[in-house]
Amino acid sequence: GREWHLAARPQGWPAPADFALVEAPVRRPAPGQVTVRNAYLSVDPYMRGRMNDVKSYVPPYALGAPMDGGAVGYVVASAAEGLAVGDAVLHGQGWREYATLDAAHAVKVDPELAPLSAYLGVLGMPGLTAYAGLLEVASFKEGDTVFVSGAAGAVGSLVGQIARLKGAKRVVGSAGSAEKVATLVEEYGFDAAFDYKAGPVAEQLAEAAPEGIDVYFDNVGGEHLEAAIGALNVHGRVTLCGAIAQYNDTAAPTGPRNLALAIGKRLRLQGMIVGDHAALRGQFFAEVGGWLRSGELRSDETVVEGVENTVEAFLGMLRGANTGKMVVKV
Ligand code: NDP
Repeated sequence: GREWHLAARPQGWPAPADFALVEAPVRRPAPGQVTVRNAYLSVDPYMRGRMNDVKSYVPPYALGAPMDGGAVGYVVASAAEGLAVGDAVLHGQGWREYATLDAAHAVKVDPELAPLSAYLGVLGMPGLTAYAGLLEVASFKEGDTVFVSGAAGAVGSLVGQIARLKGAKRVVGSAGSAEKVATLVEEYGFDAAFDYKAGPVAEQLAEAAPEGIDVYFDNVGGEHLEAAIGALNVHGRVTLCGAIAQYNDTAAPTGPRNLALAIGKRLRLQGMIVGDHAALRGQFFAEVGGWLRSGELRSDETVVEGVENTVEAFLGMLRGANTGKMVVKV
């Protein structure tokens, strides 16, 4: 099977030459293991950080070794109790066609309940990030006005919709094109949205939320975070979820220059890592699954075909080529 290796550590924006597609033998499962034919691979923003040789909450990718990440697929050989050939599983050995791994690291999923790729997106890690980041980290409450950046992406599109379904007073989103802005309002039910490339974020946010905001869900950092601090009302809460505007920066980022406003406004800015919120998974799965079935919540995917196009999908996601979750169909 083919698998992607990190060939060189990217400086700034990753280039195709930083990656190598390598043919490797498919390993037979040892006792307690399964072999999975991957059906969908996830490409996620956090993977950019793992390409750097820095200490973080996940270890860096090793050079010349297979990369990993979320994947779903079907068991094709099993030497483990509890998993049989034909079972669909979610696991962490993405970026490749075949994975042989300990069954303990694979989670059985139900392809009848939702399309397999949903377990990488709306019903998976990004979905839980949105759910926990809004409800637990930002302590969202009915009547809040919520602003989310990266609003047409996997996490952001769910944050806005969950806020709407939970009784937000007003939901505002920003995204990188007029087409995405239209999707936010027309498909996802945002009250207002703007294209952050079309003008200063602070000005556009003030227009979209004239009475200020109570919650900011930050996927982007930089200018967006500074604008949100300016727009937040007293006792506002910020979920620091991501800072994708700076993941490919080579110089040290600046700002937010207005952080001292947080004092008088008694703001709370809290970082999050989705792995800390596993206890919420059952409730998340039931509630979001219910909204999906009733049609109250919409989830989009951008699907790139072919393991050989995984790098292109990853780079495309960093550039904003996706609406909803970016996945690779193997
Ligand atoms: P998305 O599906 O949102 O894809 C990334 C999007 O980022 C692109 O589609 C693009 O949309 C946008 N983007 C790229 N560059 C910029 C920029 N300079 N300014 C503003 N937007 C930009 O990815 P995810 O939903 O998977 O992740 C969203 C964020 O959440 C990321 O920051 C990620 O790191 C973070 N995250 C954090 C987790 C945690 O546990 N803390 C867990 C999961 C995700 P556009 O066209 O609008 O520019």
